[in-house]
Amino acid sequence: MRQETANQEPIITPGWIIMPYKYSVGALASKFFIALRDNKKIMGVKCSKCNLVIVPPRSICSKCYSKLDEFVELDGKGTLLTYTVVHYVPPVEGLKPPFAYGVIQLDGADTGFTHILGEVDLQSIDVGMRVEAVFNENRQGNILDIKYFRPLASNL
Ligand SMILES: [Zn+2]
Repeated sequence: MRQETANQEPIITPGWIIMPYKYSVGALASKFFIALRDNKKIMGVKCSKCNLVIVPPRSICSKCYSKLDEFVELDGKGTLLTYTVVHYVPPVEGLKPPFAYGVIQLDGADTGFTHILGEVDLQSIDVGMRVEAVFNENRQGNILDIKYFRPLASNL
């Protein structure tokens, strides 16, 4: 017998889980994070078949599905494709709202790279503005080794 649920009130149960975990990021991402940590370099992977450059690295080309393993070094500068201003407290230590996340197309890359925007007046952020990576002094081998992207001086 079928039970009617369309007009049924949903029951919502609040919860909070904090769960320590570890996982291997894989060979490509390990090389990417080691370059960030040890050399303040942002590395992408280039498809030898269609020349697409993807950052952060992926093992398969998103355009032609070829296997990717050719690394290219990017200079950490790029163009803001889009952004959002965050007004809530996120579960990432050290960020106090309001702040902005941006999607940046790094020079020499064909994909968007999402990260925090810093040293910027939130009212003056604009799509198309030029930005550059700022690295943390104490790098751990993760994406927050890039502290944020800030506007290039030529934007000011
Ligand atoms: Zn390709």
